[in-house]
Amino acid sequence: MDEHPQKQEAMQAGAALDTPLLRISSLTKRFGGYVAIDQLSLDIHAGEFFALLGPSGCGKTTLLRMIAGFETPDSGEMLFNGENIASALPHQRPFNMMFQNYALFPHLTVEGNIAFGLKRLGMQKADIKDVVAQMLALVQLDGLGKRRPDQLSGGQRQRVALARSLALRPKILLLDEPMAALDKKLRESTQRELLELQRKLNMTFIIVTHDQDEAMTVADRIGVMDHGRLEQVAPPRQLYEAPRSRWIAEFVGDVNVFDGKVTGEENGRVTLETRDAGVIAALKPPSVDESKMLCVAIRPEKIKISQYGPVNDLGGNAAFNRLPGVVADIGYLGNATIYSVRLDTGAVLRANVSNATRLDTDSYHVGQRVVAWFVPADCMVLEQ
Ligand code: ATP
Repeated sequence: MDEHPQKQEAMQAGAALDTPLLRISSLTKRFGGYVAIDQLSLDIHAGEFFALLGPSGCGKTTLLRMIAGFETPDSGEMLFNGENIASALPHQRPFNMMFQNYALFPHLTVEGNIAFGLKRLGMQKADIKDVVAQMLALVQLDGLGKRRPDQLSGGQRQRVALARSLALRPKILLLDEPMAALDKKLRESTQRELLELQRKLNMTFIIVTHDQDEAMTVADRIGVMDHGRLEQVAPPRQLYEAPRSRWIAEFVGDVNVFDGKVTGEENGRVTLETRDAGVIAALKPPSVDESKMLCVAIRPEKIKISQYGPVNDLGGNAAFNRLPGVVADIGYLGNATIYSVRLDTGAVLRANVSNATRLDTDSYHVGQRVVAWFVPADCMVLEQ
């Protein structure tokens, strides 16, 4: 997971000082009686790679289309560099959108596709030729300029669409599921290339995706949407390690969740009596209402399993949470193995154990008694 630390530092420092490049305030969009975007506010900063992530139908594309000017909001404000652009037509906005299906002109060559928007702007022929050549080099399509889209692979078509969008030098590039049509391997290499390109050009990108790995790979910050609202906006690590709610914890990555109530507190730690996993110790959460029914969430890779548990256990639950059980299922993934442990309480816990060395067999077998253990600092206490 690359978080581009220098860029983030610069952005965090800049964020306090600068006017955001794009400020969205209380934006609402209804389709008939259905509220697709609900009082949504968001700031996007110059040079940021921002990802909108969320389940199907949560409103990601509608929000992107409103930024582009293809949809008109019912209420709310949109400021670009402090200027209201809510009523500007798409071509009056300094943005460009790359569509999911690329929307290339099938009868035009690659060069013709890239040149199309530049011609409409009235650019001189010689200048257009230069820009097209630059764009072809930028997306590594030199030599393919005379081909038509149907003579290209899916990955190459995607690059043409990208080149066509970038040729107009938009202040913000809007990308709607740009990698959806590519297979897994190509998608991963294209994500890296897109990120390199964004850094090289120092442009602002907003990408819509429902693929969390993709969002984590490319984005400086991710906005997780649900039902037309932003549930959390944060850098990838914060989203994963400090989700704001149970819903976010479960949406971003895999997680074990146990419902429980706080029953004790000591030395910055709380103990929760859970319904399915007994007593679990966790760090005191900064901002949850401890009188409510809460939950403890633990990522599977934070859980270790062994035959008897940690040797240096200080006794009780002082250093570790230890949950005894039986291996119920084993899923070999190559880089890791997922062990499902049926706890003595009856609940099932998933532990993701890294296959850091080459082993000819699994470390544990189905039916074996084990102890699953994890430290309190790795437990996330969340509201329901
Ligand atoms: P997906 O990941 O499936 O593309 P999304 O998060 O991009 O989903 P949107 O396309 O923004 O979701 O749609 C949000 C909601 O608004 C959906 O319930 C959708 O059916 C509805 N919607 C979108 N466009 C229209 C429209 N033109 N008329 C009526 N309803 C619409």
